[in-house]
Amino acid sequence: MGVKVAKFGGTSVADAIQVRKTGEIIRADQDRRIVVVSAPGKRFDTDNKVTDLLYLLKTHIEQNAPYEQVLQTIRDRFLGVERELGLNAGVTEEFLEIEARLSRGASADYIASRGEHISAKIMAAYLGYDFVDAAGLVQFSAKGKFLTEETNAALSAALTEHERAVLPGFYGTLPDGEIKTFSRGGSDITGAIAARAVKADVYENWTDVSGFLMADPRIVENPKSIGIISYEELRELAYMGASVLHENAIYPVRMAGIPINIRNTNKPEDKGTLIVADEQKQDNGIITGIAGNRDFTVVAIYKNMMSAEPGFIKRVLSILEDYDVSIEHIPSGIDTVSMVIADRYLEGKLDDIIDDIERKTQADSVEVFEKMSLIATVGSGMAARKGVSAKLFTALADADVNIRMIDQGSSEMNIIIGVENKDFEKAIRAIYNTFVIEQ
Ligand code: ASP
Repeated sequence: MGVKVAKFGGTSVADAIQVRKTGEIIRADQDRRIVVVSAPGKRFDTDNKVTDLLYLLKTHIEQNAPYEQVLQTIRDRFLGVERELGLNAGVTEEFLEIEARLSRGASADYIASRGEHISAKIMAAYLGYDFVDAAGLVQFSAKGKFLTEETNAALSAALTEHERAVLPGFYGTLPDGEIKTFSRGGSDITGAIAARAVKADVYENWTDVSGFLMADPRIVENPKSIGIISYEELRELAYMGASVLHENAIYPVRMAGIPINIRNTNKPEDKGTLIVADEQKQDNGIITGIAGNRDFTVVAIYKNMMSAEPGFIKRVLSILEDYDVSIEHIPSGIDTVSMVIADRYLEGKLDDIIDDIERKTQADSVEVFEKMSLIATVGSGMAARKGVSAKLFTALADADVNIRMIDQGSSEMNIIIGVENKDFEKAIRAIYNTFVIEQ
């Protein structure tokens, strides 16, 4: 028998109906033996996530404001699920314990973790799986650093004791036994480390979308979903702002060579997106996805004979470092170099930075282009294929988009272009149409 780790996000366990759907998915495949759950998420648009309510509870306590009502709302949600599923998962006792801990001054992390804790108790009772607490297994150092190897060893030993288990996501413990959570969205990380610990065949990440889309649906109408993507391509798209998994969730499974499958609990018939090692990726199309970000500033520096002046770029970089500014790209020409910088780093600093560059590098001129966007077209299918950039640039020219900057990674896996903010959406649509629709 194989083993799959199936992680279910907040919307997959938001209420009794969703828990039933989740149960059906798990039972449909005997290999789904290790289940990781989030706290219940939103049931409808204006609903609250349980984790947000738990943080709200903590805020009330800190402000010495009455908190019983918030606590009651959270308790009612869990009791409702327990009742509707006809279970006894110990929800009442859990809340007695929480109240006792609150009266002794519970930490924010402890409070926040209870969403996952009770969610896992309910899921375990519903499935007839063992509940395995993440406390004591998922470990952090006294300074709060996640202990990768210690956790892997402990989790691996613990999970082999259970044929089928449900593990709460999002939290673990400090050396003194206190609860410590990952950052928001951290149940993805728990799922990934569990997958590594049991050497899973696949790490299934069940959410409410059928995988990643090739482009932002707010820009491109009905974009296709990505069937298969490599870790490297995913990194490029994520860097450019496509919203994907929690960054730290990718690392453990990538290292272990375990593919991730993003699936939709509400559409289990969809295959979703499969994320695989770079060498396992077979390219179906030329491009895999398009992502981009607005609001960059380009600082272009010109100096005659710059290319013969050792240390020129270093001097510019150290000025930017002094201002704590990080740089996205550094396109360069013979006697020019440009710094592409996200606007959020420049607030109130730009004039001083330019003064410094002019003074310290004796540049002939420094020009600033504001309101720029960057767009990455990503796909390992572009590598070693002729005519891809020609096609891209023709599409943009036909759409009347002026390209202000071009940067192609040496892996030939991405082409990044700079355009003016006003052309951002038009450019993405033009690229999508050329490479996806017209293929
Ligand atoms: N419940 C946590 C959050 O809302 C962790 C997670 O769902 O991944 O951030």
